[in-house]
Amino acid sequence: MARDYYGILGVGREASDDEIKRAYRKLARQFHPDVNPDPEAQEKFKDINAAYEVLSDDRKRQIVDLGGDPLAPGGGGAGGPGGPGGAGPFVGFQDIMDAFFGGAAGGARGPRPRTRPGADAILRLELDLHETAFGVEAPITVDTAVLCTTCSGAGTAAGTHLATCEACGGRGEVQSVQRTFLGQVVSARPCTVCQGYGTTIPHPCPTCAGDGRVRTRRSLTVKIPAGVEDGMRIRLAQQGEVGPGGGTAGDLYVEIHERPHDVYSRKGDDLHCRVTVPMTAAALGTRLTIKTLDSEETVDVKAGTQPGSTLRLRARGVPHLRGTGRGDLYVHLDVRTPTKLDADQEKMLRDFAKTRGEEVAELSKQGGFFSRMRDAFNGHA
Ligand SMILES: [Zn+2]
Ligand SMILES: [Zn+2]
Repeated sequence: MARDYYGILGVGREASDDEIKRAYRKLARQFHPDVNPDPEAQEKFKDINAAYEVLSDDRKRQIVDLGGDPLAPGGGGAGGPGGPGGAGPFVGFQDIMDAFFGGAAGGARGPRPRTRPGADAILRLELDLHETAFGVEAPITVDTAVLCTTCSGAGTAAGTHLATCEACGGRGEVQSVQRTFLGQVVSARPCTVCQGYGTTIPHPCPTCAGDGRVRTRRSLTVKIPAGVEDGMRIRLAQQGEVGPGGGTAGDLYVEIHERPHDVYSRKGDDLHCRVTVPMTAAALGTRLTIKTLDSEETVDVKAGTQPGSTLRLRARGVPHLRGTGRGDLYVHLDVRTPTKLDADQEKMLRDFAKTRGEEVAELSKQGGFFSRMRDAFNGHA
């Protein structure tokens, strides 16, 4: 009786070549003796390979579909003498390798390039509020890899060249062959002599020792636009690290850190500050001169201003980074109560309170407002 090759791979009779291949790879990974030493798994692995050998071959698959078994001794039906033919009992190892190393990509590997793109770099830049608000041209010192000017990135000493690696013949990888019951299993690993480049540098550049780049400190000027905020990053294209072998430089990011300001705190493009006014000024109204970031403004405090009131000075905040206009400046008013009064001042304030019908207990004479409340409660008043 013919074996159920479709069942072994878990696919339907109408399965496409692709589905068969995928099912095979999945099972082969699962039951490969290197992964799964269980004897049953080894048997299963043989079955899987047999099923794949049959179903991946149009002629053999046709025999199966007609009810025959192309692998059975003498049961090949339309098959030639010897049944499975020259392929041996198992599929070629390329299919097994594909199952383990991801298919076509496995065969497409070559030596890795010596020249590779460089990494991005980041630099922290501390600025005052005035600088973030109005922009500045800031000098910065950058410590990155730059192109080696001695060899222009080639890594070789003057007048010398790269040589093909003798250990790997320029392939960048070496293959080792293991004999298993499946036949030969070939695996590839990067060549240790050339680190996978496929080439060696017999005479390295004396300046960069073959890296094609050197570390250096350099000074740049970065133009900070008006209105930047704490935490923003300014990108300087290709001012980052030069890559190995003189590869294209990455970008440099300058990250803005705004120092706290003594007077103003910033929320977005608005600024906030606090101004203290005496109680009398708050009551009577007054005129204040406010120093803004870039000007002096005169503002009126209305009579009867309460503690915690806010004055808003339009367009006296930070200029918007994009577009025109500026944020506002909010002046928070702290109303200061006098702390020490002389006898005359106290009398005047008491008289003032009396005219307004405001009861003010005299602490020194009556023990305080709360004390009198308590006396009243206890019936002593
Ligand atoms: Zn090599
Ligand atoms: Zn060099």
